[in-house]
Amino acid sequence: KASVMDGDEFDSEQLMESSEKSKAQSELEKLQADRKTLPIYPYRDELLKAVEEHQVLVIVGETGSGKTTQIPQYLHEAGYTKRGKVGCTQPRRVAAMSVAARVSQEMGVKLGHEVGYSIRFEDCTSDKTVLKYMTDGMLLREFLGEPDLANYSVVMVDEAHERTLSTDVLFGLVKDIARFRPDLKLLISSATLDAEKFSDYFDSAPIFKIPGRRFPVEIHYTKAPEADYIDAAIVTALQIHVTQAPGDILVFLTGQEEIETVEEILKHRIRGLGTKIAELIICPIYANLPTELQAKIFEPTPEGARKVVLATNIAETSLTIDGIKYVIDPGFVKMKSYNPRTGMESLLVTPISKASAMQRAGRSGRTGPGKCFRLYTAYNYQCDLDDNTVPEIQRTNLANVVLMLKSLGIHDLLHFDFMDPPPSEALLKALELLFALNALNKLGELTIMGRRMAEFPLDPMLSKMIVASDKYKCSDEIISIAAMLSVGNSIFYRPKDKQVHADNARMNFHTGNVGDHIALLKVYNSWKETNYSTQWCYENYIQVRSMKRARDIRDQLEGLLERVEIELSSNENDLEAIKKTITSGFFHHSARLQKNGAYRTVKHPQTVHIHPSSGLAQVLPRWVVYHELVLTTKEYMRQVTELKPDWLVEIAPHYYQLKDVEDPGSKKFPTGQGRAL
Ligand code: ADP
Ligand code: MG
Repeated sequence: KASVMDGDEFDSEQLMESSEKSKAQSELEKLQADRKTLPIYPYRDELLKAVEEHQVLVIVGETGSGKTTQIPQYLHEAGYTKRGKVGCTQPRRVAAMSVAARVSQEMGVKLGHEVGYSIRFEDCTSDKTVLKYMTDGMLLREFLGEPDLANYSVVMVDEAHERTLSTDVLFGLVKDIARFRPDLKLLISSATLDAEKFSDYFDSAPIFKIPGRRFPVEIHYTKAPEADYIDAAIVTALQIHVTQAPGDILVFLTGQEEIETVEEILKHRIRGLGTKIAELIICPIYANLPTELQAKIFEPTPEGARKVVLATNIAETSLTIDGIKYVIDPGFVKMKSYNPRTGMESLLVTPISKASAMQRAGRSGRTGPGKCFRLYTAYNYQCDLDDNTVPEIQRTNLANVVLMLKSLGIHDLLHFDFMDPPPSEALLKALELLFALNALNKLGELTIMGRRMAEFPLDPMLSKMIVASDKYKCSDEIISIAAMLSVGNSIFYRPKDKQVHADNARMNFHTGNVGDHIALLKVYNSWKETNYSTQWCYENYIQVRSMKRARDIRDQLEGLLERVEIELSSNENDLEAIKKTITSGFFHHSARLQKNGAYRTVKHPQTVHIHPSSGLAQVLPRWVVYHELVLTTKEYMRQVTELKPDWLVEIAPHYYQLKDVEDPGSKKFPTGQGRAL
């Protein structure tokens, strides 16, 4: 009897397995069929022929036509991957991950095997990988190890119209290697029609156009400017939901915080509306959204329900979500801005360009006629919006790129072949900063310090801080701090109904007014002591996910320490050594308290404030060093630590003189020749 049972079980298992297999098989068949419905498909052979015939090709096609997911597969099918990898760059991390996941599904392979992705601090590729999606910044870093990209047979610089800093620098580098690597194919793909400019830059490379399929989009403006675009977006979304025909909604917001706020309010209001209305599924998407939640936005909306996607600019061209029929466009984006005179960089919410507004509207008309609700007036659109977004290279700090180019042996930056050159003032500022950090010598040549700094995929000030930790024997602590800073501002969790508890928990790490950097270190070390406990994170209102990411980043930084021959040494109790190390990287970011309770930055005086989330917000030390500036209602310093002014002169004597750090009116300032009078 027993043997019969066994036999039965054996059979049913086999049955299961084969039915699963056939299920996977039919899913794969469906995906293959879907591929053939994309606008790019009819041009497959023609495109491959053009690639064969030309070394450099500019490809233009509307968002969603299949450029990113299909072209690398076509190249693979045509045999290009036998000679080397096909690399495809994306300006955004989430896009690189999500597209690689999609392509691996379409090819029926495991993500990380034949198809993989590489983003900063996360390499999901293997020896098998032939289609590699990556951020533009990662390909840039690959030049450091392999200046001719010998591993690649094709490089596709995708989303070229985004004109990120890394993409612009890549243009110059790939254009150069294409000259001495005739076997390398170069594809520049873009969603907008300014292709002529790309073609001109790449020595009149031919332009391959993929005609899009586009349905008409009705555009609605508000009659008067909206005082509160968040509220307006929420009201509009709900109105669409209760009055308009089926079809999903896409709302453009400026960042994670805004998206979370809108999500919360929407949920609340829907509950208020009761059960009479159809289900509204809310899907957020932004750069730091955990991977397992990213896939949710692509899941088809169930019959009778409606989906509302709350997205950052990532949904403007990088990701296409099928089924969107309504777009809500408040008209803002979070953008970096940089003042080359003062060297100050900040992130601020700014109006979008007309080109962006058009792209956003277009998202609603992919599969049928759509509607776009602009939360600004027609007059605003016509008269206040710029035609195009200024390329990032013209509005950012260039220190990172200059260090990279110097490491690649490119010295004459003023004559580097930029598509749109950066302001020379910004280049000089970057050279000045790198000189102050000791990464370059007086002749502008890379120093040993600079070479070590370039090993780290971090901003030069952070890299300098890490390299400087060798001197103060606290590399162990400093890489934890650097990792925590790299995670961004998502460590502490502050639920609306438990703000007091959350704030109390957070202040525990600030005992002794140690400053935000040391507080981050304490968080990391305490978590480590609990053996990376999730429960501990809950109890302390700390995001587990961010902590895990910090741990990953920290592990990688530890590996890099070895590469630059810095020993891992711990000096946990010497807070002064740790603060001096931070100052070694960030002396540029120092500020002094004023009588009115505000701060002035020391060089290039500018009024700034301590961010309310800082542990020092109520303490107001006389001198501080800060990690970054953010402009919201005021210019805020985020992540702040107290410093002693004489450290500035001790650590960066070529940058600060005594006169910079003397307190006017204070007689007790130590030493100083001028003061003897
Ligand atoms: P393009 O690069 O021209 O904008 P894509 O290749 O990104 O176009 O998109 C082609 C199609 O693939 C779109 O219909 C899009 O919805 C789909 N797609 C892309 N990524 C994913 C994903 N991660 N999951 C599901 N569908 C996806
Ligand atoms: Mg694309």
